[in-house]
Amino acid sequence: MAEWTQRLLNWFAQYQRWMPWREAPQPYWTWLSEVMLQQTQVETVIPYFKRFIERFPTVQTLAAADQQEVLKLWEGLGYYSRARNLHKAAKVVVEQYGGELPQDADALQQIPGFGPYTSAAVSSIAFGRPVPVVDGNVLRVFCRFWGIEDDIRQPQVKTELQARLEPFIKDAPPSAFNQAIMELGALVCRPKSPHCASCPLAPDCVALREHRTADLPVKSKRKPVPHYPVAVGVIWKAGKVLIGRRRQDQMLGGLWEFPGGKQMAEEPLTETLRRKIDTETGLQVRIDSPYCQVDHGFTHFKITVTAFRCEWQSGTEQPLATDELRWVTLDELDAYPLPKAAIKVSEAVRNYERMQGNA
Ligand code: SF4
Repeated sequence: MAEWTQRLLNWFAQYQRWMPWREAPQPYWTWLSEVMLQQTQVETVIPYFKRFIERFPTVQTLAAADQQEVLKLWEGLGYYSRARNLHKAAKVVVEQYGGELPQDADALQQIPGFGPYTSAAVSSIAFGRPVPVVDGNVLRVFCRFWGIEDDIRQPQVKTELQARLEPFIKDAPPSAFNQAIMELGALVCRPKSPHCASCPLAPDCVALREHRTADLPVKSKRKPVPHYPVAVGVIWKAGKVLIGRRRQDQMLGGLWEFPGGKQMAEEPLTETLRRKIDTETGLQVRIDSPYCQVDHGFTHFKITVTAFRCEWQSGTEQPLATDELRWVTLDELDAYPLPKAAIKVSEAVRNYERMQGNA
C-alpha cells in the first residue's frame, strides 16, 4: 500500500464524522444516502435520511410506496428526479433482483438512476468492490495532490482520475478508501483555504509544495444562468385553492403547484397569469393583488415568482397542462409534495389569509 494511502486511512479512522448510515451499514442505506448526498450537504441530508428509513425501512417498503408519499418525504431536498428514480429503482430491485442490489458497478448501472457515480459508490462502499468514486471533493483533492491542471468541467478528467486511482484502491479496503477521500475533501481539502497543516496527504502534495492550492483545481466559469419572471395564481373558490400535479416527464414531475408560468417579453405579468390559467385550467378568474414575490434558483436558471390572489369567476377546471387538478383547503395543502417556491408561496398565503381572518 502506498504511504499516502495508509496515512489517509489512518486519518479517516480517527476523524470521520458520525453519520446515521455509517452506524450499521447495509446496501440500501448506502444507496439511499449516496443519492441524497448528491448536490446536498451531510447536515441537510441527516434528518431526511432518518425520516425516510423510518417510513421505508427496506427496499421492499419503498417499492410498495405511493410516489406521492416518496416525494412528500423528499420535499425541500431538491433535485426531485433523484426521488422518482430511487422509487422506480426500488421496484426494479424487488421485481428483477429479488430485493437485493447487485454488487457489481456495471450491473448496478442497468438500474434506473444509477449513473457512474452512484454505482461506484454503492459497489465500493456497500460491497467492497475496488471501484474509485470521483465526485467534486475527490476531483479537488487529487487535482491538488497530483498537480493536475485540466479543467474539471471536462468529463474526461473524471475518467482519467478514476483510472489513475484504480491501482491504489486495489491495494486498500475500497469502502474506507473512497469514503476517506470524500471526507478529506469535505473537512480538510476545502475549496477555499484548505487545512494543509492537518492533512495526511501534505507530505506528497504537489499543490502545497508549489504554493498552488489557490489555483487548483482549474474550473472554467459557468455561463451566467438566465433569469425568468414567473406569475402564479392562487385561485380561490368556496374556501379552497386550486393546485395541479406536474407531469411525470417534466422537471419537478409529480409535485404540485399553483397554476402559472413564464412571462413572455413585453407581456404584463397579470396578462401572463390570465393566459397561463386559461391554457392550463380553462378557468376565468379575477386577479387581485400579489401575495408575495419569491426568488428561487435551479441549476440552469433562476426564477422570480409573483403569486397573485385570484377569485374563480367561471369555467370548470380541466388539467390541460398537468396530470391532475385539485381544489384543496390550506390545511389539506400540507399533505401534498410541493416544490420550494410553492412552499414559500403557500406560507405567504397562509399568513395573509390568517391576518384577514380567512384561515
Ligand atoms: S495538502 Fe492541502 S492542498 Fe494538498 S491535499 Fe492536503 S489539504 Fe489539499
